[in-house]
Amino acid sequence: MISEKTRLKMRLAKLGKKRLPCSLETKEKIRNSNLGKKRSIETKLKQSLKKKEYYSHKENIEKFKARMKKYYCKIRIPLEYRICKCGCLRLYKCKINSKREFINGHNRRNQKMSKISKLKIKNSMRILFKNEDYRKKILRKRKISFYESRIIQLISDFKLPYKFVGNGKIWIGNRNPDFININGEKKVIEVYGRFQKARNYGSSKNYEKNRVKHYKKYGFEAIFLSDKEILNKNWKKVCLYNIRGLSNV
Ligand SMILES: [Zn+2]
Repeated sequence: MISEKTRLKMRLAKLGKKRLPCSLETKEKIRNSNLGKKRSIETKLKQSLKKKEYYSHKENIEKFKARMKKYYCKIRIPLEYRICKCGCLRLYKCKINSKREFINGHNRRNQKMSKISKLKIKNSMRILFKNEDYRKKILRKRKISFYESRIIQLISDFKLPYKFVGNGKIWIGNRNPDFININGEKKVIEVYGRFQKARNYGSSKNYEKNRVKHYKKYGFEAIFLSDKEILNKNWKKVCLYNIRGLSNV
């Protein structure tokens, strides 16, 4: 047996020094000796307490995250091509260990839903969307639409004082505008497709009225750009006119 004194000495000598990683052989030995060992409840409790204490420090959490990042960068799961199971005969790429069977959105394509179940889904979505956290979560995941990407391009080309916030960054009341003025003026830009809004609001004019009213409550002025302006041949000119015309730049 080693005496306490020697133990302490050994500990101090090793403390703080970086050791090289074990060889594969040693790793295998450690693994084998640990294999099938059962810890008593006391030991488990001790371990859990130690771990809890260790991860109560923020820096340790950061360390763990960095380690995981390094680890997951190393393993790259290879990709493969699969045929979509809905019968559309299209190929898609995915990781070989994934359980995906369809192209996004194809899994219910050939299923005919009854009117009742459609209504049920609609209602449950409506209830979900009343929850603010859920709405924000969904919007953050949303991809930038073609219309929006055009306006982003316009803003960077002409150095307009606007910023894209349509991914749920800024909320005015319970609405998330697409672009917001960053020059101190209380102005927002809404980009929309006329067809979609006509379906939901009856007509695009109704939609604009609704939004103008909403933003007015909070002292904001709304500028609208629809697909009519964005898909125009001289879309840059028309959109610029719309943005600047209202803001008197
Ligand atoms: Zn398909």
